Amino acid sequence: NDRTVRTPSTDNSPLQIFVKAKKKINDIFLEIEDYVNDTVIYMKKIEEDQHIIDKEQVKQIDTFKAKVLGIKDVLARDHMKVAFFGRTSNGKSSVINAMLRDKILPSGIGHTTNCFLQVEGSPTDEPYLVLEGSTDHCAVESVGQLAHALCKEKLNESQLVKVYWPRNRCVLLRDDVVFVDSPGVDVSPNLDEWIDKHCLDADVFVLVANAESTLMVTEKNFFHKVSTRLSKPNIFILNNRWDASANEPEFLDQVRRQHQERAIDFLVKELKVCTAKEAEERIFFISAKEALLARLSERGHTSPTPLADGFQTRYFEFQDFERKFEECISKSAVKTKFEQHTQRGRFIATELKESLDKIYTDAQKIKDEKIEKRKDLHDKMNYTEQQLMLITHEMKQKIHHMVEDVEQRVSKALNE
Ligand code: GDP
Repeated sequence: NDRTVRTPSTDNSPLQIFVKAKKKINDIFLEIEDYVNDTVIYMKKIEEDQHIIDKEQVKQIDTFKAKVLGIKDVLARDHMKVAFFGRTSNGKSSVINAMLRDKILPSGIGHTTNCFLQVEGSPTDEPYLVLEGSTDHCAVESVGQLAHALCKEKLNESQLVKVYWPRNRCVLLRDDVVFVDSPGVDVSPNLDEWIDKHCLDADVFVLVANAESTLMVTEKNFFHKVSTRLSKPNIFILNNRWDASANEPEFLDQVRRQHQERAIDFLVKELKVCTAKEAEERIFFISAKEALLARLSERGHTSPTPLADGFQTRYFEFQDFERKFEECISKSAVKTKFEQHTQRGRFIATELKESLDKIYTDAQKIKDEKIEKRKDLHDKMNYTEQQLMLITHEMKQKIHHMVEDVEQRVSKALNE
């Protein structure tokens, strides 16, 4: 069934690193929320009853409620974000569609992406899009409609259009990967604005280059700008349209080596974002068009098309890219997104513990003082008791003597 995604039990995708970490941290924050609520209730109660703590202490712990809610809110929206860049028509939309295994984004002549397009999973069964600055859901059932909707609107190239695609139609969307397609880096003078608006929270950047030409200055320039704003961004370079090499098999190895060396130099020496060994795992020679067609025909959406020589190798390389990409994005997102939450969670838990410890030591102090007072009282009581006993004893003696005296005198009187 082409609409069924892999079930979690059989799912060995590296994206699960992120999915599982997200579930775990979510559970931890649910527990922290419980602790905070319980602590506030407890503190309020003893504040009324016993005067051990002051109002400020309760207030401080009370502010954690809002903090935890805020973190839980951000956590629910945390995702893995990948942004695609490259010159117009290099195949950015085709790569995204191939990864999503469906023709979601319009591609090809007349469908130049003229704004930022973000594709993310939606819990609903029907796809829809939302324009920037609007909350209206525009229903889109087909790519044609999407392209039409995009052309109809006068969109600025920095604007973002969000496409919500049913999660149950694609594993990557189900697992919280968000895709961002950009207008070609060759058309925009506003690269700085793009970076600020759309790139600062991206976990992975994919440069879709054209294997039929060398890396362009405009493409390089964009990534130079990105790497000044982000420290060591994760960049993959896809040499797309590698199917064209099938036409010139005699130059295949030579061309590949040349592209490979230049791409490694770019990542390692120019951008300094990774080592040469790492760079080898970041550069791929693929054909997005073929990968998409193969996937559509696997699902019976199109009839199998005759494939160029070397298709199988290119398709394997595309799948290899996907796996490395999944590993990279899930690890990076766990670190960038959850590290901060973890630190905040730890801070809240420590503050709670310290507050409760303080209440405990204060209560202990009060208890000790009370015991001391009681002991004092006890001592005092002992003294009084003894005095009383003495007095009682004395009284008894006196009464006894008196009685004896009276008895003696009575018997004497009787005898006389
Ligand atoms: P974008 O402007 O970067 O998003 O590029 P598109 O994905 O719209 O692709 C532009 C054109 O190139 C479309 O007609 C695609 O079918 C075609 N194309 C994309 N990838 C490949 C590929 O790997 N090989 C070939 N031969 N054509 C491709």
